[in-house]
Amino acid sequence: MKFNIAIDGPSAAGKSTIADMLGKKLNYSHLDTGAMYRCIALAAIVNNVDLTNEEQIVDIIATTKLDMKSDGSIYLNDKLISDEIRSEQISMAASNISKFSKVREALVKMQQDIALNNGYIIDGRDIGTVVLKDAKIKIYLTATSEARGIRRHKQNLAKGFESDLQKIIKDIEIRDYQDMNREHSPLKKADDALELDSSNISIDEVINIIEDYIKSKEDRSIL
Ligand code: C5P
Repeated sequence: MKFNIAIDGPSAAGKSTIADMLGKKLNYSHLDTGAMYRCIALAAIVNNVDLTNEEQIVDIIATTKLDMKSDGSIYLNDKLISDEIRSEQISMAASNISKFSKVREALVKMQQDIALNNGYIIDGRDIGTVVLKDAKIKIYLTATSEARGIRRHKQNLAKGFESDLQKIIKDIEIRDYQDMNREHSPLKKADDALELDSSNISIDEVINIIEDYIKSKEDRSIL
């Protein structure tokens, strides 16, 4: 029987890549909850909404059609925006709007509805602590800000984007601080999560460790 897997951690720790690859191996779907906050931030910016106005952001959620396809593509009001939401401007805007409790409430509800089907690997900041408190597999993935910055920098260069490593590291640290110190659902490790530091190990090794962890729980009939 399928269950849900929660993966939390700071930005650029490799959560989405790992969730995608693990999903393909286990035949699970991947739900990238960070992309949901990013979509709402993009919709707010496109509609000239004040990013400090909680009520207006909530209105945007209510009037926006968000489509998270199982192949990872993301549509906002039927427009493909998978790449558009990856800019540094949207990263920071998503972090800014994610501090509002009503914004979180609306998106958490959507995420929980999706997770009802089971068979999801869900990555974000509050999955193990709020969205899927009862998930039997919880991973908390970290890495130093330098290691995460270097990874993001390489990704940018590979895509042909301009990239400034020192700025990326600084932005990552600002977002970490915001995400870890906000009042509502701050980023933190769930007590029952397996913590993995990916600074010095490859993505493949991280996946092997998670697979072994799932297997050990299966063997002990915990799943
Ligand atoms: O994971 P990603 O970097 O795409 O997330 C963008 C921002 O969305 C994060 O910096 C965080 O502020 C917010 N977020 C959140 N809760 C989640 C997922 C993302 O607050 N479950």
